[in-house]
Amino acid sequence: AINRNLHDVQGKVNVSFEFFPPRTAQMEQTLWQSIERLAPLAPSFVSVTYGANSGERDRTHDIIKSIKQRTGLIAAPHLTCVDASKQQLIDIARDYWDNGIRHIVALRGDLPPGSTAVPELYAADLVEILRSVADFDISVAAYPEVHPQAPNAQFDLLNLKRKVEAGASRAITQFFFDIEKFLRYRDRCAAIGIDVDIIPGILPVTNFQQLQKFAGLTNVAIPDWMSKAYQGLDNDPTTRNLVGANIAMEMVKVLSREGVDQFHFYTLNRSELSYAICHLLGVRPVL
Ligand code: FAD
Repeated sequence: AINRNLHDVQGKVNVSFEFFPPRTAQMEQTLWQSIERLAPLAPSFVSVTYGANSGERDRTHDIIKSIKQRTGLIAAPHLTCVDASKQQLIDIARDYWDNGIRHIVALRGDLPPGSTAVPELYAADLVEILRSVADFDISVAAYPEVHPQAPNAQFDLLNLKRKVEAGASRAITQFFFDIEKFLRYRDRCAAIGIDVDIIPGILPVTNFQQLQKFAGLTNVAIPDWMSKAYQGLDNDPTTRNLVGANIAMEMVKVLSREGVDQFHFYTLNRSELSYAICHLLGVRPVL
């Protein structure tokens, strides 16, 4: 059994890839190389982020349009509601629908740093607004380690339930490294009657220093074993990549054995690690 490939012991695995809008011509080239490398894996969808308050929704939309045209894949824009009025969101939704966009990743987003305002709209409201415009396929965010602003874990879980009841068809999780936490969260979702797929968000880590800064803000725990794994590699990107690949591969293997058959990859616009992990999962190019 040791020699059996992971994909021999499980059924079909579905994957999706997340990208962000590039800021320079060189980054744009990297993005397209990545999309072209990953597209033949026939992901169930790809998504493009939109930074709340960035004012760059058009850039997200442009990339989505190009992905659709160049690859024929289902391309889903992220849309935030913290920086728009209800009417604006209705107009954006209509525009997306009229442009053939059927899948949206619906988020609240964050107020600008330092703002003490209370958001008028939450992601559950956005799901409701989108549903009132058209029959969108809607993904929402979920937090196995609890969203940093939630009063408690139960409130946050009920918030996910509200998003699903408002019409979301799947939840994509914040990245995580403690698999037990994800599995416990999945169980709690099931116990509370959340009946959509909870898709783990996988972040293959190549820049550990950057992750440490980001993880604190997002309430994601970095286990000791992980810090130890990256110790002494600050100036050694090649080894860091190998370590990152190994950690992410172990994660998907364990999750796979726990019956997870869908994975969402935070690609950071790079294809190498996501491609390798997909290969291991038996996700191969569709000719
Ligand atoms: P919500 O589900 O609205 O929850 C936000 C917080 O408010 C939670 O703590 C919740 O418990 C609480 N809450 C919900 N309803 C209420 C209420 N009625 N009263 C009081 N509190 C309430 N950000 C971007 O800017 N752009 C992106 O493209 C983007 N993509 C993401 C993709 C994924 C898969 C994930 C996991 C996150 C993404 N984010 C993105 C980050 C996200 O916008 C932030 O985490 C944001 O703080 C919360 O968004 P949400 O959709 O989870 O909000």
